[in-house]
Amino acid sequence: MRREPAPAANTEGRLAPSLKNLNASVVMLVTRDGGLLDDNRGYGRIFNPGDDVRSLFIQPRFDEFAARAPTDGVIYRGLLTLGRLEAQSASFDGTVYEEGDHLLIVAEPDVQDMEETISRLQSLNARLADVRGSFPPPFAQQRSFRDSLLETVPAIILLLDPEGRIARINPYMEGLCGYLDSEVAGKDWFTTFLPQVGQAQGRERFREAMAVGASSRHVGPLVTRAGALRQIEWYARTLTDERGRVTLLQVGHDITERIAREEDLRRAHDALRDSGRRKDEFLAMLGHELRNPLGVISIGLELAGVLTDTDAVVRNRDVMRRQVKQLTRLVDDLLDVSRSTRGSLWISRQRVDLNDIVRGAVNDIQVLADGFPHALSLAMPRHPVMVFVDPVRMTQVMVNLLGNAAKYTPAGGRIDVAVEPAPEGVWVRVKDNGVGIPSDMLETVFEMFARVDPDSHQGHGIGLSLSRAFIEMHGGTITAHSAGRQQGSEFVIRIPT
Ligand code: ADP
Repeated sequence: MRREPAPAANTEGRLAPSLKNLNASVVMLVTRDGGLLDDNRGYGRIFNPGDDVRSLFIQPRFDEFAARAPTDGVIYRGLLTLGRLEAQSASFDGTVYEEGDHLLIVAEPDVQDMEETISRLQSLNARLADVRGSFPPPFAQQRSFRDSLLETVPAIILLLDPEGRIARINPYMEGLCGYLDSEVAGKDWFTTFLPQVGQAQGRERFREAMAVGASSRHVGPLVTRAGALRQIEWYARTLTDERGRVTLLQVGHDITERIAREEDLRRAHDALRDSGRRKDEFLAMLGHELRNPLGVISIGLELAGVLTDTDAVVRNRDVMRRQVKQLTRLVDDLLDVSRSTRGSLWISRQRVDLNDIVRGAVNDIQVLADGFPHALSLAMPRHPVMVFVDPVRMTQVMVNLLGNAAKYTPAGGRIDVAVEPAPEGVWVRVKDNGVGIPSDMLETVFEMFARVDPDSHQGHGIGLSLSRAFIEMHGGTITAHSAGRQQGSEFVIRIPT
């Protein structure tokens, strides 16, 4: 029988970290007289910590068992008592290694079926009495310690021969890549698992690792049988077998999800930074916006005291009224913004004819923009289109869309408004042939304080974000469409009926 190399434990009586982490098994490092030097957590789960290991062996007695070592890599079936379950026992499949003066026992107790275990204990006791002289019998299907490690470890393990062909992949890697070891053994690693673009670099890295004896940690892609691309973090080192043949051992972890999470975090960070910047720009602009009308009103108030000509008094009053209206609108918007960020916007719904709301908003906008400079068409069904909405907020949304269409379309443009009932709800479209929106801004324009052109003094970047909040509170959707700059824009609302 070929002797397995002893696994890593050292003579100071400590298990190597890899053995400590073998959860599925009981791993014990013991002295030949049964003293426990170290164990993994599996031992503590089943036995009373600190037990004399000798007491764990029912048959044969531990000293007989120990006397038969060295027994490198041989698998035994034996019986262990369970410290916690007095008078009960568990069978185990185990491997015993000689480790200097110590014995390393790696066992997998079968504690599932106590009855079965006890009956096995009785028959085994009887049998052991007969075969005592020839104990331990070699276990029929020998599985080496290295093989059990390869099979249980939750990491990708890959062995490449000196030509870069696959010598072995472990079950964890089989699960990840969708191939069986038997299907890929002997195949070229680079052409089988790497995307075309990474093959040359992969080969280069392989050659270096073979020459140096190890490679530095690197992250590389791997293509699964289903064609999915996974990102693997690899560590590699060479192994030399007893015949002097060198293979490259690669151990990998699938970090695809971790990379995706990092990417999400980066995006979230960028979005936060952008929104912070937009808020700063907005505050700077707000200062001006509030200052200008206040300046005009202050002058108007001064003039009110000295003007005597009736026309001049009326003009002065109109100017002040307009400025106060503008200020009030701005302050109302600001209040909505603060409610929206605190999540305390609310709507008050009633059954209304959407045609009336749209007609009213069109009217408002034409009155607001004195001498409306665009051609405006309005297409709506002749019959009422009854919806259950907040009429004030719905009007606010329509005024915002119409105001934007007017604002972002050079004078002499076209604005088409349509109301279209459909099975999935009512569609409302506001289309213009103005400055358009670049495709990468079609979603961003709905974010608070977002403006396509931050240097223009045409808007505050508030309206669309509030509009989306209101439409979504109604269970509807609002989207922006545009073929790009100077190609016009269309805003489409769907309201459930
Ligand atoms: P405001 O118009 O006050 O800036 P909005 O939130 O209503 O705020 O709009 C956000 C941005 O979306 C605008 O600054 C503008 O860049 C862009 N936008 C909105 N409507 C249109 C439109 N019809 N055509 C072109 N760009 C538009």
